[in-house]
Amino acid sequence: MIVDFHTHIFPPEMIADRARFMAGEDWFTHLYGDPAARMAGAEELIEEMDRAGVDKAVALGFPFRSHDLCARSNSYLAKAARSWPGRIIGFANANPKAAGALAEIEHCLELGLKGIGELVPDSQGFDLADAGAIAPLADLAAENGLPMLIHLSEPVGHSYKGKSRTTPEKGYALARAFPALKLVFAHWGGGLPFYELMPEVRRDLAGACYDSAASPYLYDAKIFKVAVSLVGHKKILFGSDFPLLSPERCRREIEAAGLSPAEMKAILGGNAARLLEGDCGEPA
Ligand SMILES: [Zn+2]
Repeated sequence: MIVDFHTHIFPPEMIADRARFMAGEDWFTHLYGDPAARMAGAEELIEEMDRAGVDKAVALGFPFRSHDLCARSNSYLAKAARSWPGRIIGFANANPKAAGALAEIEHCLELGLKGIGELVPDSQGFDLADAGAIAPLADLAAENGLPMLIHLSEPVGHSYKGKSRTTPEKGYALARAFPALKLVFAHWGGGLPFYELMPEVRRDLAGACYDSAASPYLYDAKIFKVAVSLVGHKKILFGSDFPLLSPERCRREIEAAGLSPAEMKAILGGNAARLLEGDCGEPA
């Protein structure tokens, strides 16, 4: 089974008139202010999945600062998951600082959403290392075995849209504050896997996974073999960051990475299946 763990879809009204949703949303404006920046809905995601031979995709909305926009996006994700059962797995988003965040996520679980994310602290205006801010959502996720997917960025290297100030040490602080949380650090955790060579860091990150979203834009394809040697193949998830990149291109990159069949099988879908059942991060 092939699972793309990191895709983004938008409700039709946001795609039709994106400018209407930009007030107070600096990150959204930064990423999608250019009309050429592609936005996609569930139908296009399914088409791309079919083209790439992807069985299931985790569909994320956008990390809006506005509680109402998160809620609107969540209802669309729930509808998409209902329309393509077993193919689209929706995750819920909410601004942890919003008064209604916890109630919104609880509502989303009733609607059939299966995780939380992608949280982007720089977009939503909170500090990932501030355990108090995220505690209600983190506790809910930990209690229910829900994966929580977080955008992390590398502290070095070239600048690009989407590069945030939420770097590996913030993700590490979160993992230490909530040891029972099933964390997925997006974009290779901004380089966090390297620090798992330190025994205490490895222990603290036992429950964390890393997705490969946008990898071709960030890293040499060697990263797949390197990351397997750092954290083991059971902690790595195939993610494309569709519509930024096609699942087809990202899948091909993994298949050409020189991994063993067992490693490839785990990364392309086995780990995702386990994680979505609430079990991630067993020792490799
Ligand atoms: Zn991201």
